[in-house]
Amino acid sequence: MSPKEQLDTLLHESRTFSPAESFRQQANFQDEGIYESALQDPEAFWSTQAQELTWFKDFESVCNWEPPHAQWFIGGKLNAAYNCVDRHTLTHRKNKAAIIWEGEPGDSRVLTYDMLRREVDKAAYALRELGVQKGDRVTIYLPMVPELPISMLACAKIGAIHSVVFGGFSAQALRDRIIDADSKLLITADAGWRRGKIVPLKANADEAVVDTPIEKVVVVERVGAEAGIALHEGRDVRWQDLMASAPTSPYPAEPMDSEDYLFLLYTSGTTGKPKGIVHSTAGYLTGVNTSMRTVFDLKDNDVFFCTADIGWITGHTYLVYGPLSAGGTVVMYEGSPDFPDRDRYWEIAEKYGATILYTAPTSIRMFMKWGSQYVEKHDLSSLRLLGTVGEPINPEAWMWYHKYVGQERCPIVDTWWQTETGCAMIAPLPGLITTKPGSATRPVPGIAVDIVDEDGNSVPPGHGGYLVITKPWPSMLRTVWGDDERFRKTYFGKFEGIYLPGDGAHLDEDGYIWILGRIDDVINVSGHRIGTAEVESALVAHPAVAEAAVIGRSHEVKGQAITAFVTLREGVASSDDLVTELKQYVVERIGAMARPEEILFTAELPKTRSGKIMRRLLRDIGEGRVIGDTTTLADPSVVEALKAQYKDQD
Ligand code: ATP
Ligand code: MG
Repeated sequence: MSPKEQLDTLLHESRTFSPAESFRQQANFQDEGIYESALQDPEAFWSTQAQELTWFKDFESVCNWEPPHAQWFIGGKLNAAYNCVDRHTLTHRKNKAAIIWEGEPGDSRVLTYDMLRREVDKAAYALRELGVQKGDRVTIYLPMVPELPISMLACAKIGAIHSVVFGGFSAQALRDRIIDADSKLLITADAGWRRGKIVPLKANADEAVVDTPIEKVVVVERVGAEAGIALHEGRDVRWQDLMASAPTSPYPAEPMDSEDYLFLLYTSGTTGKPKGIVHSTAGYLTGVNTSMRTVFDLKDNDVFFCTADIGWITGHTYLVYGPLSAGGTVVMYEGSPDFPDRDRYWEIAEKYGATILYTAPTSIRMFMKWGSQYVEKHDLSSLRLLGTVGEPINPEAWMWYHKYVGQERCPIVDTWWQTETGCAMIAPLPGLITTKPGSATRPVPGIAVDIVDEDGNSVPPGHGGYLVITKPWPSMLRTVWGDDERFRKTYFGKFEGIYLPGDGAHLDEDGYIWILGRIDDVINVSGHRIGTAEVESALVAHPAVAEAAVIGRSHEVKGQAITAFVTLREGVASSDDLVTELKQYVVERIGAMARPEEILFTAELPKTRSGKIMRRLLRDIGEGRVIGDTTTLADPSVVEALKAQYKDQD
């Protein structure tokens, strides 16, 4: 194997954090033997986990794997909404809070399982009344209001397939997704609240549905008269009217086959055009339910605060299907973390006594940039476990999260996963695993992961390669909606029968997995293949730096040279001296080959709507190319500003 075929690993992190004895003793999983037994017989492991669900009819066999297509829990019948709602109303959880919702303007709503059941059932009747049949697609374009999970669960209850489109997307992005999914019903709202301003949704929806298969549009009233919307006669129906006239009797859950599709959801678009990822009913639900108990150590008295928008997979899995299938209490927040002030998350965590907090590195870096005073204002002693997802977490961001939010008391679960995987694949079980800042540690029980070279051979510790998942798992995607060929090529085209996520990684000498960044983003400097995550983490470790993105730019001698885009912490001024200092800082931490050729200071980095850095756009800017797909970009003006700045400096 030639050194050019694998990623170089550069950064060395030696800090470790073991779970406190008090945490370990109360953890759901305290016996490390679970890893070995799940590895020996994954089907037996998953079959046991699936027993946590309520089945209308038991499955006959566990898994049928005909690469790239897997079927799980064959012959079984169940309903996802029944598992997330109805069954809990038959237990001591009947009057337990299922969803605690906080609106941005400060209004709030608590839905107990019993109340949620009534709302979901009324919505299910309403969907049927509007002609939605089992298997039909329903597009949901809503702000973070309770009607969003209610709509999803109502679809699941009648066997319709939902496709949630993030409420911050444009009319065009919504339209593309409606057409791709061939939906005939759209559920939207008049508008939403963001930073105290009204965000129009109905106006976008009106534009999006022209000449699409959409027949009816259901409109939730969130903002009211101020939104100033008009209803389209014969097409639009008010959600509130539908709910008022719906029967109040329980809606009998549709018995679904294990493999019936539960939903489709488009990926974030970090690496290119978004893919419509399809998830099945039983496999997805088994995966997400299991990970609540393993990775998140969920107990009956937990209050789980997940800051993700439901428009992304994290919200689907860890605000809706995961916690609710496990009978948990979730906190759902409508708005922006800096409204009315920069302590809003901490205020909410304190107000509702959150015990588990799950957020993204991009948010943590933003909190660091703002300073710790906002966190310190609040009593966060209820927190017992923290989680992160979305990007590699820079070790310094991990340390900040540990110190200021976790108060050096809470274990951190860094969870690596994707829209495609359905739930966390690589993450510590918090009562068992010693963590290292920046590493997602090891695969969860039942998941088989390897790191391989170009030929598919395992690489030894200390060498980077392709992260792969070598065995099927219940919550894996079933296909790409309407494009099975793209599914086959993207995920199974490189290695036969082995799933390729598209991320680079390496193992350390303790067997811990470190994500090096996206394979698409790898930089090749004089034959050294460098992942983005390590160089960025070295930069973020400098006290002046809040955030960094590195890319490769063509270079006559080296092939490629590293360009770093850097955002500074508040109150730090940029200067030529700082450029020199940062370059030297990277050299000291990881070596001369990683020395950035140029460093550009910028107020913002281009990110997806889900908060991930879009390095491919920075590469386009660096190479002076036409900018690629920008439909999922959060703020297009960031790219324009960077282009102008980049030209100036040439
Ligand atoms: P697209 O596939 O359209 O480019 P995307 O990959 O950003 O979009 P998601 O499914 O939202 O869409 O993101 C999954 C990716 O996020 C992973 O492949 C990985 O690169 C990154 N990621 C998520 N969690 C972690 C983590 N804990 N550590 C490192 N990377 C992570
Ligand atoms: Mg992806």
